[in-house]
Amino acid sequence: MGSTGINKPHVVCIPFPAQGHVNPFMQLAKLLHARGCHITFVNTEFNHSRLVRSKGPDAVKDMPGFRFETIPDGMPPSNPDATQSVTYLLYYTKKHSVAPLRDLIVKLNSMEGLPPISCIISDGIMSFGIKVARELGIPEIQLWTASSCGFLSYLQFGELVKKGIFPLKDESDIINGHLETPLEWIPSMAHMRMKDMPSFVRSTDPHDIAFNRWLEEGEDNLKADAILFNSFYEFEHEVLKEISSFYPQIYCIGPLSTLCKTLPQSEITSRRSSLWKENTDCLTWLDKHKPNSVLYVNFGSIAMMTEDNFKEFALGLTNSGHPVLWILRSDVVMGHAATLTQDFLKETSERLLIVSWCPQDRVLTHPSIGAFLTHSGWNSTLEGICGGVPMICWPFFAEQQVNCRYACTTWGVGLEIDNNVTRREVEEVVREMMDGEKGMELRNKALEWKNKSDVAATQGGSSHHDFNRFVDYLFQLSI
Ligand code: UDP
Repeated sequence: MGSTGINKPHVVCIPFPAQGHVNPFMQLAKLLHARGCHITFVNTEFNHSRLVRSKGPDAVKDMPGFRFETIPDGMPPSNPDATQSVTYLLYYTKKHSVAPLRDLIVKLNSMEGLPPISCIISDGIMSFGIKVARELGIPEIQLWTASSCGFLSYLQFGELVKKGIFPLKDESDIINGHLETPLEWIPSMAHMRMKDMPSFVRSTDPHDIAFNRWLEEGEDNLKADAILFNSFYEFEHEVLKEISSFYPQIYCIGPLSTLCKTLPQSEITSRRSSLWKENTDCLTWLDKHKPNSVLYVNFGSIAMMTEDNFKEFALGLTNSGHPVLWILRSDVVMGHAATLTQDFLKETSERLLIVSWCPQDRVLTHPSIGAFLTHSGWNSTLEGICGGVPMICWPFFAEQQVNCRYACTTWGVGLEIDNNVTRREVEEVVREMMDGEKGMELRNKALEWKNKSDVAATQGGSSHHDFNRFVDYLFQLSI
């Protein structure tokens, strides 16, 4: 115990084992470490190995006050470099990671030289962390790594069942427009339609595993001692106001990537949490282009498309005539390697660069980026906002549909591409975004949000304030 009578808080961080969760968790961990907390960062064994392969052993090297631990995910063996199925991960971790997590917490609490654990911060979709924490009498906080509008949408799942909207009556409901049903009864989300709800509602099966798992997770989240949101009040004001009306213990501390800018440069560049090897040559390619002239295309770490979708995108993007940086994960096309013919590549080599993974945060703040074609994952959406870049949205699954709806309405920064993508639509939307008046309007709005996010995350701003409040709370826990 120090002279102030306060122990150094010891925080155990447990992200869901996917890229879009590990990244914000690492940002939070670095920020808390810089504020004097002791951090234990828990990866799955699978991701620990991936980090070592992609970033080298330094990515997971212990340093004073910051150590790494692993737990198994319980998944059957799979390709060690490919994306793991989120649905299976949800199922297997809940079943198989609880006992190893409990053992780990007990071990950490008895290790000499480590401060006692002050709290567990587990992922909003690993709410079994709450169960373990309760059993061991440790405070439990959740980091919700997706949007707050996504969070509020999941909390409506019970109501969808009560109102008889879920399960859908038959498969054709999805096709024949049942999904157009307005959901104006959702508090503070009056513009939502059924088709904007998280993808898991698209089922005719009342026992649908994914739907029921998210229904449970949403309810379990509210049992935590506090919830952290990687968002800022100004951006999701109505939704956050609504959430805090029934669950007041929230801290809104985003964009975490902007808060991280206050860290020393060595902290920012160390322990990058990319599970894939990042190609940085694309930044040199971007240097050669005029401001706002390049369309950046990236569908994140999980989304997949059919071979037809892939062809339509390839033709639409190149027909648009704009320079394109396209990040093509090797497993982005279902059942096939994502490849384009040599002739096509030769013909388009002047204006199309394809790489398999990039440092997206750096790409989105590059001046030559004019727009971002995205799957509307929350990190990608926030990173787009932080770069002041307007978005073309092609949501894939989970709450990406909600983010897309907000981007194209409330936030005024996006244009949507239909799920059944055609080359014609891609070409038209890209032209509208890059050359049209609408594109200019959306770019200006994105810049406005970028400025607001910068203000929120710097001294005196709302997220900065909430982060300080959260650090105070942690120190109170360890008195
Ligand atoms: N990302 C990256 N390089 C890539 C693709 C993605 O660094 O080539 C990062 C991106 O910056 C973001 C995360 O991976 O932080 C993806 O999270 P998001 O929530 O956008 O989507 P998900 O992958 O979870 O669907």
